[in-house]
Order: sequence, then C-alpha cells, then structure tokens
Amino acid sequence: AGRYAGLDRFKARERIVKDLEAQGLLVRAKDYTIALGKCVRCGTIVEPRLSTQWFIKIKPLAERAIEVVENGEITIVPENYQQIYLNWMHNIHDWCISRQLWWGHRIPAWRCADCKDMMVARETPTKCTHCGGAVLEQDTDVLDTWFSSGLLPFTTLGWPEKTRDQDVFYPTTLLITAYEILFFWVARMIMFGCHFMQGHRQDPKLKQASGWSDKKDDSVPFRQVYIHALVRDAERQKMSKTKGNVVDPINIIERFGTDATRFTLAAMAAPGTDIAFSEDRTKGYRNFANKIWNAARFMFMSVDTAQQAGVWSLEEFREAASEGTRATQGVRGFEAGSLEDRWILSRFNGVVNYVNQALETYRFHEAANLIYDFFWGEFCDWYIELIKPRLTPQSGTATESVRVCKNLVSLFEAALRLLHPVMPFITEEIWQAVYDGKPPQKSIALAVYPQTDEKQMEPRAETEMAVLQDLIVSVRNLRAELKVETKSKVPIQVFAHEPELRMLIEQNRGAVERLANVENIRFVESSLAKEAGARSTPRFDVHVVYEKTIDAAAERERLKKELERIEKEITNGRRQLGNEQFLSKAPAQVVEGIRRRAQELQILRSKTETALNELR
Ligand SMILES: [Zn+2]
Ligand SMILES: [Zn+2]
Repeated sequence: AGRYAGLDRFKARERIVKDLEAQGLLVRAKDYTIALGKCVRCGTIVEPRLSTQWFIKIKPLAERAIEVVENGEITIVPENYQQIYLNWMHNIHDWCISRQLWWGHRIPAWRCADCKDMMVARETPTKCTHCGGAVLEQDTDVLDTWFSSGLLPFTTLGWPEKTRDQDVFYPTTLLITAYEILFFWVARMIMFGCHFMQGHRQDPKLKQASGWSDKKDDSVPFRQVYIHALVRDAERQKMSKTKGNVVDPINIIERFGTDATRFTLAAMAAPGTDIAFSEDRTKGYRNFANKIWNAARFMFMSVDTAQQAGVWSLEEFREAASEGTRATQGVRGFEAGSLEDRWILSRFNGVVNYVNQALETYRFHEAANLIYDFFWGEFCDWYIELIKPRLTPQSGTATESVRVCKNLVSLFEAALRLLHPVMPFITEEIWQAVYDGKPPQKSIALAVYPQTDEKQMEPRAETEMAVLQDLIVSVRNLRAELKVETKSKVPIQVFAHEPELRMLIEQNRGAVERLANVENIRFVESSLAKEAGARSTPRFDVHVVYEKTIDAAAERERLKKELERIEKEITNGRRQLGNEQFLSKAPAQVVEGIRRRAQELQILRSKTETALNELR
C-alpha cells in the first residue's frame, strides 16, 4: 500500500483523492449510490478482499450424485424437489471448503517454512517432501461446516474402519429434512457417500428384510429423502423474531395438549406446501381428543355395566385379542351380526387400507384426516349412536349386549392403534386401560399397526348404510328447515320404489326413528317430490309431515340452487364421459361410477324440477 500503509481506509481514500488532485489527475468528484455490505453485529461497512482458499473439484462428485438420483437408487419426495436437486447439481461450481473460523475440522495441509511448498497428508508430516525442511506449519483454516456434516452418515459408523455397523445401518432408509438444506447437506452427503463408500455392500439379509433388494448401489447414504413442510404463521409469513410472529410450540402444547399440537402438524403436512399454523385448527383437534376421551369413558361405562351384570368382562376381550393377533391384523375378536356391525368393520378396514397407502407415500395429512373422519364421524357419531339401544341389557337380550360390548371394545382397540402415530399420548393411556395395565406389549407403539383384512370387508353393508345415513340426514335437514322443535317427534312418509330398499328401511326402522327423531315411518306408493317439506334422492323420497307452512320463497331458492348444482354436475359428468383420453386412462369402475351417477342425476333433476314447478 506504499505511502498509505497503516492508514484507516476512510482516511486513505481522502488522501488518495487529494494526491490525485495535486497531480492534476482528478477529472471530477460525484456522489452515487451503491449496495453496501454491513456487519450484522456492529454495522461496520464490510470490504471485499482477495484471498487464497481451498476448493474441491466438484464435477466428478456431482456426476455420481446425479446418477444415483436419476437411476432411482435414491428417491426424493415430493418429486418436484428431485428436479430442483438435479438442476443444482448440473449447474454446480467448484466448492470452496476453507473457512477462517476457530471451530471446525482443521484442513490437513502444511506449508514448509523454507521452500514455502504446500503438502496435504492424512498423517501430520515431519519433514517437507520437497526440500526436506523440518519446519512445517499447518494451515489455520477449517473445513466448511457442510463438508464436515456431509461425512456424518459413515463417520458415525466407524469409518474409515470397516465395521459391522456399516454392514447393518449403511445405507439408512429415510432422511427427513426441510428444503433449505437439500443442496447444502443432503447433496453433500450423497456426494461423499458415493465417493468414500464406493464398493460398500450392505448385509444382504438385512437389505432384503428392509425391502430394498431391488437397489443395486449400497454406497448411497440413504434410499429416500422426504422434504417436509416449514411451519409458518397463519398468514403464511415465515416466522421471525423481528416480525414478532414466532409461535412457541411449548406454549401451544401447554394450552392445547401435545396430541392436538402433533395432530395439527400432521393434518396440515401436505407434501410440497408449507404449514400455515393456526390455533383454530389446534383448538379443533383438542376437541377431537376430548371426543375420543368421552367415547372411551362411554365404552368403559358399558363394560362396567356388563361386568356388574356378570355377563362379560375385559378379561375375555384380552383373551380373544391375543388369539386374534394370529388370526387377523385387522380388528380382533369382532363378531359382525347387525348391519351397523358389518358396516363399521368394513369401513374400518377400508380406511386402514387408505391410511397405510398414505403413510407409505408420506402423505401424512391424508392419513391424519382419514383417521379423524373415521373416528369422529363414523365411529363416534354413527356407530356408537346406533348401538346404544343394543348395549343396554333391558332392551336387548344379554347375549346381544355382550356381543355389542365386545365389538365396541375390539373396534376401539384397533382404532387406537390406527390413531397412535398422530395422537400418541391419549391412545397409549386408553389402550393401557383396555388391557388393565397388563398389555400384550409394553406400549401401544410396539403393537402391530392395523392392516386391511379383506375378509372383514363388505361393500354391500357400506352401500346399505349409506342409504340409511342419507335418509336420517335428509330428515334432520328437513326438520331444521321446517323449524321443528328439537324435542318433538314427527311422522315421516317414505317413497322407495325398490322393494329391497323398502325392506332395508323397514328393518332399521328403530335406528331411523331414534336418530332422526321420527314418530313413525309410513311407506307410500308414489313420489313425494311434489310435497312441501320433502327431499328427493335417486333411491327414495322422504317427506316430513309437519303442519307449519313452509316459507315458499325460501324453498324455491333452495330448489333453484339445488337444480343449479345438479346441472353443473351433469355437465361435468358429460365432459368426462366425452373425453377419450380420460376414458382410456381411468379405471373401469371409475367410469362405471360416473355413468351410474349420470343416470341418478337425470332422475334427481326431473324430481327437483317437478318440485319447483309445484311451488310456482
Ligand atoms: Zn462487526
Ligand atoms: Zn520445503
């Protein structure tokens, strides 16, 4: 720096300007704006400075890292991150691995004090390989933190020695991380694994047992990468201390419970999208936990009643369940008799099927929502309500109430196992109680996860129950529209042209009367679509007989909206059925379903039109 050496940079600048001026070399001085880097801590202006650094020639490492992802040895979920990863790897630059910090792996490079030659070695050298000089100084730079952490998958397993741990645990199955370090960390682990572990073979027995026999390359550090969502605030803003929008999980847990918090995160974890954390959702899931707790109390009360009557006890369930463990991975010890039994058993196995598929493909939000809908909607709101009369020994025979009690416990136990991964604490608590503190495994976490048992599935029971539910919900809605007082029972008329359907409703008369608060059901021989206070579905018409006149204008509005909705669905169906590409790709039963629905919609439309004309 010559005559400016040792000067403060700002002083030096002034001096230079002055010197240029003195020599007549300065044309003019002018203000302009530039981007200025500043120290985050003290605000001092940062100046760029050229220096010597260590670099890694990245091409050969990147090529292998591209190869293993392209040929499917490693899969990245969701898929769009696979493309992002590959784009990065294709456009990668040589990697500067030296850092001027105190902490870190020191770079194994030494400089000779005599000839200034540089040498890199595994062991600390004693003399210069070039001139033989004995004064050697190790470089003070340390490795980039991503270099060190990129080595983690095998350094933790004893590398560079060959160890049994490597045979067993390398490669691991799944790496879960957020997208910001896909390039920094995940990519480096893949590069280093492919390089340093080249030729490694995992124990073939373990490899097969984990289901990876189709993979050829065992040098990769893991088989799958799952990129999880980031949690943002309810307005989708990234949380930051300066913005003051940080949600403290401990606080949420204290207010809503650990299970509700965990469930919220799972239910919102749609792959590829971030989570906009909202307390309202968590509040809703706390209610869900309460619902389960209340259902459990109801179950234990019923069990107590049976126990006091000396007809059945949990001991018998525990025996049946331990036998059932071998017989089925579905619901153990369930004896399906009535329609609601066959229906709930079938539904449970159907839900289990979808939940397992969702978990396998890391669609945690789908799994959580499926379990939620089943547990709350079908199990608590429908099944428990439907079995109540059969549970009390006075109204049914003792054998019947025993069966109902047993089924309730069986199904509850299986549903707890299904729910456990997303609500671990409440499920453990109830499960332990079901086994009276002496469970077959130490924890529900060790119990087998429910699997679909095809033998427990019965589509017919599901179709039949759907009709009954439709009927009950229709009557409930009509009652609300007609403003029938909650307590008063009303008679209904039903038109069902299929004899089987009529028989189905006849057989489940009690359930309909109880759940829809109906006084009695009268079957009629002609359509009820024209009646005020009636509802039409493709398979039945139902009319709530209630004296109060209905609001014709409101009813007309409702029917108009209904008609619009039907028209829209008809158009959509036509579009699908007219689309050759769709027809050639869609599964046969899906196409068949759309055709059937199209026919139903025609019936619905004409019924709704009739009703509307009647009101005019
Ligand atoms: Zn500073
Ligand atoms: Zn030397």
